[in-house]
Amino acid sequence: MCAQQKTSADTRTEFDAIIVGAGFAGMYMLYRLRGLGFSARVIERGTGVGGTWYWNRYPGARCDVESLDYQYSFSEDLQREWNWTERYATQPEILKYANHVAERFDLFSDMQFETTVTSAHFNEGTNRWAVGTDRGDRFTAKYCIMATGCLSASRIPDFKGVDTFKGDSYHTGRWPHEGVDFSGKRVGIIGTGSSAIQSIPLIASQAAHLTVFQRTPNFSLPANNERLTPDKVREYKENFAELKRLARESPAGIAIEVNEQSALEAAPEEREQAFEQGWNQGGFHLLQAYADLLATTEANETVAEFVRGKVRKVVQNPEVAETLAPKDHPLGTKRICIDTYYFETYNRDNVTLVNIKNNPVTEILPNGLRLEDGAEYELDAIVYATGFDAMTGALLSMDIRGREGERLGDVWAAGPRTYLGLSVAGFPNMFMITGPGSPSVLSNMIISIEQHVDWIADCMSYMREHENATIEADTGAQDAWVDHVNEVASLTLYPLANSWYLGANIPGKPRVFMPYVGGVGAYRIKCDEVAANGYEGFALDSKVMEPAR
Ligand code: FAD
Ligand code: NAP
Repeated sequence: MCAQQKTSADTRTEFDAIIVGAGFAGMYMLYRLRGLGFSARVIERGTGVGGTWYWNRYPGARCDVESLDYQYSFSEDLQREWNWTERYATQPEILKYANHVAERFDLFSDMQFETTVTSAHFNEGTNRWAVGTDRGDRFTAKYCIMATGCLSASRIPDFKGVDTFKGDSYHTGRWPHEGVDFSGKRVGIIGTGSSAIQSIPLIASQAAHLTVFQRTPNFSLPANNERLTPDKVREYKENFAELKRLARESPAGIAIEVNEQSALEAAPEEREQAFEQGWNQGGFHLLQAYADLLATTEANETVAEFVRGKVRKVVQNPEVAETLAPKDHPLGTKRICIDTYYFETYNRDNVTLVNIKNNPVTEILPNGLRLEDGAEYELDAIVYATGFDAMTGALLSMDIRGREGERLGDVWAAGPRTYLGLSVAGFPNMFMITGPGSPSVLSNMIISIEQHVDWIADCMSYMREHENATIEADTGAQDAWVDHVNEVASLTLYPLANSWYLGANIPGKPRVFMPYVGGVGAYRIKCDEVAANGYEGFALDSKVMEPAR
């Protein structure tokens, strides 16, 4: 079915809720609101559902949280009927899943595609949001729910001459749907984050030559991907409810056990053995080896050096190995990457690594690029694996205005301030799903998405029952939450890295640690307490009651 056919034929312009974005967050939000009898319209820029998995179609794109964990948990029937084929599902398989969910629960009829929300203004006279789009739509709704994604605003750095390049250029987060054939081409890739690390081995196997321009080397662990056996899938399905309960109560939204012991208490040989075991299990298992690997620099250094040792063993050229071995940040303080033959790729004759740490790209030329020292590289294609304006980018690209016409961009000029990552003081009835100040990107995001959606849906039901017109975060409660988010982050190693968690990848972006490091389980308890205490920290107003439509 093509997107035009899927797009809602409904011509209404007034809804209980406008939901911006049709990724996993927007899809589940619509499902919940429908079930509660609220009217809602999802507005999505792309031509289909899936969000991240709709846009990021670069070669090698996969989840790095295991497929069995990275799926919705809200429907027993859905989990029973869907069968993942690999330990780490490919982007096409995840996108197929998203489409399956949308078809199965008949979500398309309330979705509008190829439409970008450009503005959302709160009207204090009517207590309703006026939402505008690039197609000239004007919707009004009691609630405006931002399911716009933490990693959806892809970003090409402001390189001089970027538009002068005569070859083909691509951003990993906006990959052409028809795919790209790099055969016979001299390709340059800028960036060595998760997207680059997944795509480099595949691009290298196709291109005539691949030049990788690396600013910061990343810690990457082997996926050890494999096909899922029917037995493994059956076992997971049978224990699904319990595994999801454990995931919801866990720090990162994944039901895994962590060794309670300190890495520093273990003898070096014992530690090596534990690390070796974690490494061989693949994925994030290495981090389970000891309790304090992400807690102290000393413990962290033991596992960081283990990984650097692996890089030195795999990469044959010692100079290249040293350039690839991360030394400027503790392991885990930038998002860990999960790869398949990433480091091995540097042993190929057609791959060159260029260290641009102290020799940045100064200009994109019609036939390649130039570095600060004057070196020029001739290229037929450039891949920008340069990441996203994370967490705030998608929100701030819209003209969002709350009470007294105050702009979200102004309120957040020094960095995002939210209450629980769900709500912003001065912006009544606007919710964010996995917003800054919530665990979001530090977790299995589907678990975090479901928790936020359920909380918002419950809140809207409560308000309907209590005839509340608006809900709005108190400035005091918000300030206290922001202080708490900052305080817990400052107790960790995270601030030691120049990561996108801190906005450090964008020149001029305020340096604020955006996600909440307190853990998914503890955070859920806090949100549940807030709701149980009559939405503590929020002001609920019942003066003007809008009839449900
Ligand atoms: P998205 O999937 O980002 O969806 C947001 C949607 O909103 C997009 O479709 C966008 O077009 C739309 N939108 C935004 N602004 C507007 C606007 N103004 N108007 C209209 N539409 C708008 N997380 C994990 O937990 N595990 C993983 O393995 C994992 N792998 C990832 C791999 C990649 C390549 C990337 C980039 C991210 C990955 N993530 C992973 C994070 C991932 O973003 C989340 O898991 C999840 O898919 C987010 O869903 P979402 O609906 O919140 O946002
Ligand atoms: P990213 O992690 O932000 O990586 C961007 C890369 O581009 C970094 O190496 C960065 O270097 C480099 N870069 C940015 N600006 C540059 C400039 N001006 N000059 C040179 N280099 C520059 O982005 P991403 O790889 O797209 O991943 C983003 C997030 O999406 C991940 O962290 C993860 O959460 C998610 N993701 C997950 C998977 C998965 O495995 N499932 C795959 C892809 C993405 P610096 O590090 O020096 O800034």
